[in-house]
Parts: sequence; structure tokens; C-alpha cells
Amino acid sequence: MNCNCINEVEAKVKEHHQPQVKAPIDSVRCTNISWVLSGEGGTFISIPFSIKADAPGYRSEKGKQMMVHASYCPFCGVSAKKEKPSE
Ligand SMILES: [Zn+2]
Repeated sequence: MNCNCINEVEAKVKEHHQPQVKAPIDSVRCTNISWVLSGEGGTFISIPFSIKADAPGYRSEKGKQMMVHASYCPFCGVSAKKEKPSE
């Protein structure tokens, strides 16, 4: 990610949701974040997809979950890929 949207949205969610919670909110974390170490690496927002097939690991009602990285931030539209300094 090349923006600070996740942190900003987490803070907004905390502020917006606090009146509905009867105790101080300790933390708000986006649970669809992936840290990728290989390739270009970095932090990505991941969207889960369910794959079903008549094969081991794929037969359950939920199927096998696979995470797909979003190429752009869904909040501001900035590319999530690492910026290359020489370009
Ligand atoms: Zn963003």
C-alpha cells in the first residue's frame, strides 16, 4: 500500500463505533490485510474467494478459501504496488 487509508479508516471506525460500545474500544484492526514478503513485497488488502471442487480440501460447504490481493486501495484508488524510486 502506498497510502495511509487503513490506519485512517481504523481510526474512523473506532470513533464512529465507540458510542455503541459500553467500554472504551482498545483497538480496531482491518482483518483483510496481508503482508507479502516475496516478489515486490509490501502490505496488501486481500479479498477472500471460495473455491469448491470434488477434491480433498475443496469439498466443504465453505470450500477452500483463497486470498486475492487488491491492486489498488479501495478507499483512495492509489496503486498498492511498491513504487519504484527510479521511475
Ligand atoms: Zn488508500
